[in-house]
Amino acid sequence: MKDKQSQHALHKLAQADRWNREVLPSLIRPYMKVTRGRFSDLSAEEPHSPAVCRCGAPRPLRVLCVSMERLEEVVLMVCPCRLAAIQLVKCSFFPCAPLFPTLAVSLDMLEFVASLFLHMAPNERAWAATLVEYLKARGYEFATGDSFRRHFVNALVALSGACLVGQGRDYSNCAG
Ligand SMILES: [Zn+2]
Repeated sequence: MKDKQSQHALHKLAQADRWNREVLPSLIRPYMKVTRGRFSDLSAEEPHSPAVCRCGAPRPLRVLCVSMERLEEVVLMVCPCRLAAIQLVKCSFFPCAPLFPTLAVSLDMLEFVASLFLHMAPNERAWAATLVEYLKARGYEFATGDSFRRHFVNALVALSGACLVGQGRDYSNCAG
């Protein structure tokens, strides 16, 4: 059990390092562009264009994109020169993991929650449960509700860690 805990802690550390060194710096420009423009969407972005790949080793990655309106699964072509995170941010979504995310949350929703949590005690459990019910009533069901909460918190922590939303507020207590 203890081994499992320390493995989990090591994994968390490695992931935080990957976010901070490799991924977040490359997201700042596309994030600024998207939040300034707000014109991009999943259908318009064409994230699969092979012309941009320089390494010739793209692979498909299924990502569940979560917004207030719907759940939508997209398939991205990812490789070392085409990070999933950059493709998602260009489409106004933010990934739950730095390299191979399985879920992404709309930037609008993350910004709304970050702002909400500045005015009330952060309660990501209540937020996640409400959203799962809200989307379910509209015909969209998550495979597992609780894993949504964890993925959602990962995205919120990473985005606020970059000081892009939430004015640098620390949500890491939410993660678990
Ligand atoms: Zn490539």
